[in-house]
Amino acid sequence: MRTKHDRGDKASDQRLLFGWGRTSPTLARVLEPDSAGAVDAWLHDAGSAQGLIARGLGRSYGDAAQCAGGLVLETSRLDAIGPIDATSGEVEVGAGVSLDRLLRTGLREGWFIPVSPGTRQVTVGGAIAADVHGKNHHRDGSFCRHVSAITLSTPTGVHEAGPEADPELFWASAGGMGLTGVVTRARVTMRRVESAWMRVDTERHGDIDSLMSALERVDTEHRYSVAWVDCSARGRRLGRGILDAGDHAPADEVTGRRAARLLEPPPERTLSVPPLVPRFAINPLSVAAFNEAWFRKSPSRPGQLRHLSGFFHPLDALANWNVVFGSRGFVQYQFAVDHAHRDLVPRTLELLQRAKSPVTLAVLKRFGPGDPGPLSFPMPGWTLALDLPVGPPALPETLRGLDETVASVGGRVYLAKDARLGRDVFRTMYPRLAEFEAVRRRVDPEGVLASDLARRLGICEDSSR
Ligand SMILES: Cc1cc2nc3c(=O)[nH]c(=O)nc-3n(C[C@H](O)[C@H](O)[C@H](O)COP(=O)(O)OP(=O)(O)OC[C@H]3O[C@@H](n4cnc5c(N)ncnc54)[C@H](O)[C@@H]3O)c2cc1C
Repeated sequence: MRTKHDRGDKASDQRLLFGWGRTSPTLARVLEPDSAGAVDAWLHDAGSAQGLIARGLGRSYGDAAQCAGGLVLETSRLDAIGPIDATSGEVEVGAGVSLDRLLRTGLREGWFIPVSPGTRQVTVGGAIAADVHGKNHHRDGSFCRHVSAITLSTPTGVHEAGPEADPELFWASAGGMGLTGVVTRARVTMRRVESAWMRVDTERHGDIDSLMSALERVDTEHRYSVAWVDCSARGRRLGRGILDAGDHAPADEVTGRRAARLLEPPPERTLSVPPLVPRFAINPLSVAAFNEAWFRKSPSRPGQLRHLSGFFHPLDALANWNVVFGSRGFVQYQFAVDHAHRDLVPRTLELLQRAKSPVTLAVLKRFGPGDPGPLSFPMPGWTLALDLPVGPPALPETLRGLDETVASVGGRVYLAKDARLGRDVFRTMYPRLAEFEAVRRRVDPEGVLASDLARRLGICEDSSR
């Protein structure tokens, strides 16, 4: 093990850290280890600190990658990408490699990331710790189903885990929000594609029933599906929206000028939002006007060719769009419920309208079975994700009521997006927490690993100081 003196890493003084929603900043000492050995050394020495947690690109919305008063290990320098096995698509990567870089590297050779969240700006470590899902969950499951091995640095040493080698530790780490250790390396299986283009069917639906029935239908027909919901529409038009269902386009369907860009990676250049967008620019009226325009500009169209960056990651075109919500920030509320409770989707839209809370983005997806981990988020059924600017007076109480309703029907809120859940309701939503705690105690009996999220939710409470 390397010592304090030869870690070769960078350490900063205290830094204020936010999640993507910018709601609950806290100060921590940020370290940038340059190797797995340096990570081990910090874990070894962390005993006297107020806890330690890993951080990727800070794209979780809440306080998962923060540790007030403690140490935060940023993984950006664990950035090696090995060769991609030409037959199996397996590649060994450092945990700090972003999905953006992995995609750019793979696409040149005809490989795509197996599961992609709505942004490429997340690290492999972050994708494993949240076991992220994409538009293909109904077909391919979450990210960790495509990971065959991880190297995990813990306070009690280095563990190699995978679905076969130490599956208990592997699946606890998949969705374990960094609380079982720091992933330093992973083997990921990429998906073979013939082009960087998607063949997409777009359908416009005038109400929520029609939209949800269409999402059910396209599950069997397409690998990817997602719906944008207009949360401003009321009455008979409640929950109207636009459904996109797509598949990777085979090379022979990419013709004309696009053929010259067959495996072209996403554009590197992004635009930035000017820092001073006035707060009043986001209100129920402006959001309703935007939604109306968006709904009208998206007529039903079958079989369009779209570059995968526009299909998977449209928000990545704007580098820092989260600043438009101003200093108070925004929360993302994402819940999952089983098929029998699909009515919770329209009921949620009505509740938020009654609370006069504008929803700046609403995404509805279908889930297949979750992963075996005790903190796995998906379940067969529905998931709705809502971006909600902080401010409307009735919003906090409305969301607390919604937490209770989601929990009472066996549903749950996604920890990677959460910034506000209470302890009791969290325990109802994640009834296998004790299983998780048992695995965590095996690798971290002293409770060195800790985050603001873990403290807020009372995870690891019995052993953490
Ligand atoms: C615009 C946008 C769209 C999104 N869309 C989706 C989506 O469609 N589906 C979805 O599932 N998620 C989505 N997300 C959430 C995002 O994918 C997850 O929050 C992801 O975990 C962020 O990765 P990160 O590298 O930024 O990690 P961070 O936000 O920095 O950290 C997230 C968690 O991972 C842990 N972690 C990070 N690196 C490591 C490591 N090396 N070892 C152990 N633990 C680690 C941290 O401790 C923390 O608990 C979206 C986020 C944004 C901003």
